[in-house]
Amino acid sequence: MLIRSVGTDHDRLPHTGAKARDDHEIPAAAIAVPDAELLHRVLVDKKTARVRLVLGARKLPDADSANVVGEVTGRERPGEIVLVGAHLDSWDLGMGAIDDGAGVAIVLETGRLFAALPQKPRRTLRVVLFADEEHGTEGAKEYARLHTAEAANHVAAAEADFGGDAVYAVRWLGNPAMRDRFAALARLLAPLGVERQDDSAEPGADVTPLLELGVPILDLRQDGTRYFDIHHSANDTIDKIDPGVIAQAAAAYATAAWAAAETDGDFGRVPEALRKEHR
Ligand SMILES: [Zn+2]
Repeated sequence: MLIRSVGTDHDRLPHTGAKARDDHEIPAAAIAVPDAELLHRVLVDKKTARVRLVLGARKLPDADSANVVGEVTGRERPGEIVLVGAHLDSWDLGMGAIDDGAGVAIVLETGRLFAALPQKPRRTLRVVLFADEEHGTEGAKEYARLHTAEAANHVAAAEADFGGDAVYAVRWLGNPAMRDRFAALARLLAPLGVERQDDSAEPGADVTPLLELGVPILDLRQDGTRYFDIHHSANDTIDKIDPGVIAQAAAAYATAAWAAAETDGDFGRVPEALRKEHR
């Protein structure tokens, strides 16, 4: 199976990924958009085309990997957790700079800023770098499995997995009765140019298992104009990260996490009906 690269770019470095079918009976390859268009023209003009295809990819056996977890302990309610996460793995054509090195940088900076505060927030900040997001979210599933008993103590979870560009909006999923509390959090983000968009957050892949356990989601929307030009391709390199811009994103995550960790009340639990919508 030969498919036109599903990236939004028009260069000759195709986007990679995984097949939804996992039977491996049909070898699959992506070709870059200009090459797919050329092939299309040849087919239209000449009706037939010959393609020579050499595939070197192999599926390796599963191997051990690990989530990396760190905390800044809360001053009053250390057992209550605000989680910020990103994923450690990447497709290895490029450097994994925007997917998801940028997210790792954003949540590590959030942790660094918390650790540097003269007075720690009420609740604990937990930074989780998830293993294996790209090939099955095994790290996220394992985190949720290991922490099921503690899920009720997770006050909110946010994931950074959309590159290093600016945060422009914040959304949430929680108990709708706690909307005012979310509105107060969103007001703190306004000076960074972040607007409160609506109440229907999209949980990222690594926090979806937590949503299923009722954990409220904070969804910081990043500018994705360039994202699908670059991710999962050999173009995902560090030059795509602008230090000044990613600093805004880190500030937005840190502010949201601080507000969730410091606020007197919480966001409740996500009602079952809202959890189902995201299954
Ligand atoms: Zn990712």
